[in-house]
Order: sequence, then C-alpha cells, then structure tokens
Amino acid sequence: MPRISALICRSCGRKYPVEPINACDYCFGPLEVTYDYNAIAKVISREKIQKGPYSMLRYHDLLPIDVENAVEINAGFTPLMRCNNLGKAVGLENLYIKNDSVNPTFSFKDRVVTIAATKAREFGFDTLACASTGNLACSVAAHAARAGMKAFVFIPADLERGKVVGAAIYNPTLIAVDGSYDEVNRLCSEIGDNYPWAFVNINIRPFYAEGSKTLAYEVAEQLGWKAPDHTVVPAASGSMFTKIWKGLKEFSSLGLIGKVSTRMHVAQPEGCSPIIEAYDSKTLQVKPVKANTIAKSLAIGNPTDGIYALKTIQESKGSAVIAMEAEIANGIKLLAETEGIFTETAGGVVIAGLKRLVDEGRIKRDELTVAYITGNGLKTIEAVEDAVKPVFTKPNLEAFEKAMHAGVTL
Ligand SMILES: *Cc1c(COP(=O)(O)O)cnc(C)c1O
Ligand SMILES: [Zn+2]
Repeated sequence: MPRISALICRSCGRKYPVEPINACDYCFGPLEVTYDYNAIAKVISREKIQKGPYSMLRYHDLLPIDVENAVEINAGFTPLMRCNNLGKAVGLENLYIKNDSVNPTFSFKDRVVTIAATKAREFGFDTLACASTGNLACSVAAHAARAGMKAFVFIPADLERGKVVGAAIYNPTLIAVDGSYDEVNRLCSEIGDNYPWAFVNINIRPFYAEGSKTLAYEVAEQLGWKAPDHTVVPAASGSMFTKIWKGLKEFSSLGLIGKVSTRMHVAQPEGCSPIIEAYDSKTLQVKPVKANTIAKSLAIGNPTDGIYALKTIQESKGSAVIAMEAEIANGIKLLAETEGIFTETAGGVVIAGLKRLVDEGRIKRDELTVAYITGNGLKTIEAVEDAVKPVFTKPNLEAFEKAMHAGVTL
C-alpha cells in the first residue's frame, strides 16, 4: 500500500484527505502529496530497489499509488549517458545526458501520467483528460488505451504534426482548441467543474506531479547512488523541476544517497520565460507572459509551479537560464551530431542553456552535470527540417561522384 499521509497545501500548510483535489479551499494554494517517511524508511533500501522492475515502478515505495493497480506502459528506466563529445563541445569534463526521449510515448510525460492514470482508476474514474502542450496528450491517450479508459485530450490547434498524430493514433477524443495553451488550460478548468473526469494535470495534479521524482531517483541510482553537482532542467509549468529536487532530498533523507548539494538550473526559451524574468528581477512573483516560442512543449505563459521553481533555485543555489529562439535548433543539432540523440525543441532549450551556464562560469569544467532531455526530436521535425538536407543523386556511380564533388567533403 502507498504510504501517503495526506495532501498538504504548499502555501498555508493545511491538510486534506487523499482525494482528487488540487487546490486549498482557504488560500487556493496547490496541494502536494506527503508521505509517512518513517514507514518508508523501514521498507526501502538500495537492494530492494535494485531487485524491482525495470521501470519507474522500482521506486513505488515513494510513489502515491498501489503498485498492483498500476496502469503500466513501461515508463522510465531510461539511459543516463556519459557524454564526452558534447562535453568537449561545451567545455565540461563530467557531463551526462538523462535521455528521457525514449519513453513509450517519447517524452518524460509517461512518468507523470503513469501515476495519474493509476490514481484516477483507484479513485474510480472511467475517463482521463488533460490540457496539453502536446506531449501530455500523447501520453494520456496511450495510458487510457492501455487501461481501457475513455480519454478527452485538449491541445492548442497549432501544435506540431508529430504531436497531433502522436496523440490521435491512440484514438482519444482529441479536441484542438483555437487558442494558446493557457486558454486551453482555462477552458479545461471550467470543463472539469462540469464533468466527472480525471484531468491528470488539474484535479489529479498532486499525484501526477509525483511521477517526476523518478527522474531524480533514477539519475542518483545510475550515478552509483549519488546526486550530481548540477542539473539542467527545462520548465513549462515548473512542476518537473521542483519534483526532481524533491526526489533528491527524499533519497538523501532516507539515507539512500549522501548529502545533496546539487545546484538546480531551470531552462526556458526566450519566447516564454516567465520564471527567468522573475529570477532576474529577484522576485518570487511570476508575471504571466504571452507565449511565442518554437519550443511549444514549454509554451506555458502562466506557470502553476513558477513560485516553487524559484524557491527550488533559491534553496539549491541554482539559477535560471535562457535559450534564445535562434539557439534552439542549434542545440538540437549539436546534441544529435555529438552524441546521436535526437531531441525535440525542449531539449534544444536545455542544450543551449547548458552552454550558456558553462560560458558564464555558473558550471565549472570538472563538475558533475546532468542535463535532462525530456522529449523526442521526431515530434518536432518542423524545427530543424530546413537546417538539414540529403545529397540527391541518380542511381549510378557517375552521378553519385558528381553529387559528392558538388557539395560534400569526405
Ligand atoms: C511538459 C514538458 C516539459 C515541462 O514540464 P513541466 O513540469 O510543466 O515544467 C519539459 N519537456 C517536455 C518535453 C515536456 O513535454
Ligand atoms: Zn492553503
């Protein structure tokens, strides 16, 4: 059984029962899952984790679900790759990429939806729903298919084709809204008040968010049970960023790893950087912006967890880093050319941000750094297709050699 003690308001600390609710009645603050860590400490160990399933569910003692009920498409247990080529290119000697682009629906969202879908079923819902910037739609639709649940997924109509088709293929009801993500989200909040649906990132959000902690657990385990010196993490709502930090602290307080002195760096694109703007103005008040970026998966102008992302930066002595719009495609190309990993635009933001952090001396050459790559490049081909092209030739040797001389150096 999950060892959840309660939901607790992150703002005023009031306690709530474990129900499909996400906001405090008194102060409207977001609710968070808390655990009975004494009970968890008695059952968890490195050895037990290592004997667990090869998926994120190996950490089920620290997740708010009963593992027997899991809606499983095998999310997690993704590679942590040492990246010397990319390291050389950006000036780091101890760089790792957490490649979460190889999840079942090709983004880290499978981690959060595994928890949300399971919890929704435990609460007795028969319908999964979400407001999505793209990747969440794919993951919710896939998990609903697997669980035999109905799915209603809402997206902004102008998403990349890879994400629209990548969600539609699982046969959800896919609703393409003529508006921004922030407008989609507002609409979904209203719909949620009128329909008995499990909106994974609205009424199920406290549970959903916990799935991202496994991104911290896995990296710590893969590094040989220790925390990195730095992480670079992309942010839309800011939730994943705060949960990676929570996961590292949990592992440390349970004695699974030593003291955590990780500096948490959050990356956002120039065209949607409300968290960075607040960080630069030295305030915890995030001012909503109108998103206009090619990194559509990060296009949340009014980030729900913005203030907690800023507190995570403060607590961890990290920072916020920008990727200029013009740098995003180059970041995607650099990672692909140096390490053979094809990421989507959010990953381009991370690589551009990583480079800036090193250039500005915020990460030192020898410090152990993990950059989180959270989505797959085949979903955002539009961002790079003009920057790459094949050598065209007729199918004979003479034409081949002519084509090679025309433009290619061997
Ligand atoms: C959703 C998403 C994010 C950001 O997640 P938040 O928890 O909302 O900050 C980052 N990368 C990718 C690829 C995503 O789909
Ligand atoms: Zn409250």
